[in-house]
Amino acid sequence: MPSIQEELRRRTRQSRPQVRFRTAQVVRNVVLTPRLRRVTIASDDLDGCDYGLPADAWKFMLPPPGRRRPDLPTIGPDGMPSFAEGAVPPIPRAYTVRRFDPETRELDIDVLMHGSGPGPAWAAAVEPGDEVGLAGPRHEFFAAPEAGWHLLVGDDSALPAIATILESFAEDTRVIAFIEVEDQGDVLDLAAPRDAEIVWLTRDGAEPTDSGLLEKAVRGLNRPFDGAQAWVGAEAGVVRAVRRHLLDERGLARPSLKAAAYWKAGRTSDERDQEVMTAFQTALAEGADPDDPAVTLQADLA
Ligand SMILES: Cc1cc2nc3c(=O)[nH]c(=O)nc-3n(C[C@H](O)[C@H](O)[C@H](O)COP(=O)(O)OP(=O)(O)OC[C@H]3O[C@@H](n4cnc5c(N)ncnc54)[C@H](O)[C@@H]3O)c2cc1C
Repeated sequence: MPSIQEELRRRTRQSRPQVRFRTAQVVRNVVLTPRLRRVTIASDDLDGCDYGLPADAWKFMLPPPGRRRPDLPTIGPDGMPSFAEGAVPPIPRAYTVRRFDPETRELDIDVLMHGSGPGPAWAAAVEPGDEVGLAGPRHEFFAAPEAGWHLLVGDDSALPAIATILESFAEDTRVIAFIEVEDQGDVLDLAAPRDAEIVWLTRDGAEPTDSGLLEKAVRGLNRPFDGAQAWVGAEAGVVRAVRRHLLDERGLARPSLKAAAYWKAGRTSDERDQEVMTAFQTALAEGADPDDPAVTLQADLA
């Protein structure tokens, strides 16, 4: 039986030849909560892609401010993107597929309106008929059949991912989810297995990097981790602390843990992408497996 790490590596390897840029049209843009907007896109271009695991994510290639459609690059034989002359590069931002309907080919993403970065600015202004580019998908979760119980740990940027993971479980799956949000206004009604323990942790004004809520909640868990599978998605420093605790102090088996920095304090997504790409290329030059998530994880959590 594959572990979450093995299956994600296999999927990444399998989908690599399909990587290309796709386009989609915006269909709807609605306010879900004071800090969350749901943008729905539709595209025939999603046919045939290796998509469908919970928490799958795409890089949305956002048009620069003032434009309604992005100029998309093509992928060269070296695997690198290149733009036509005079093109204005789009702004890449990662968002989770909250819902995909294969009939209508509609896809929802939930965008956290956390500040004035390009993601929230786009979500605040985008209108039906606008276009967006897509690159991916990136796989984030797989439920290993032998997992005895699941631990899900994430902040509001990972709330869409956790929501899709909870929805995907069988009714009798044993799961604990710790979800950190700003305040009670961010709490959603989530579909989940019968006995799921969903614990909402509110920052109430504290910075996500200083709240310590997720690490404290995981440290407070009083149960053995034998046979457990854990998924962690949050700010890089928070993920680093929770990951170390699970591996070093709880003895969680490394292949049963998927941890990803969904954002990094003080860094834009573009700056992080650059850091990760540099680390990735260095590791490849040293002979690393390009499909090994650990290759980029190290740079991402640094
Ligand atoms: C696989 C994956 C899936 C993701 N899915 C989602 C999703 O479904 N919904 C979603 O909203 N986000 C999601 N994220 C996180 C999102 O991609 C990042 O938060 C991204 O930085 C947003 O871009 P931006 O334009 O808002 O801010 P950026 O321009 O990247 O950053 C501007 C500033 O805001 C800070 N910042 C970035 N994100 C946050 C945050 N969440 N809270 C507080 N400060 C922040 C940065 O440190 C920086 O100082 C996902 C990330 C990954 C890797």
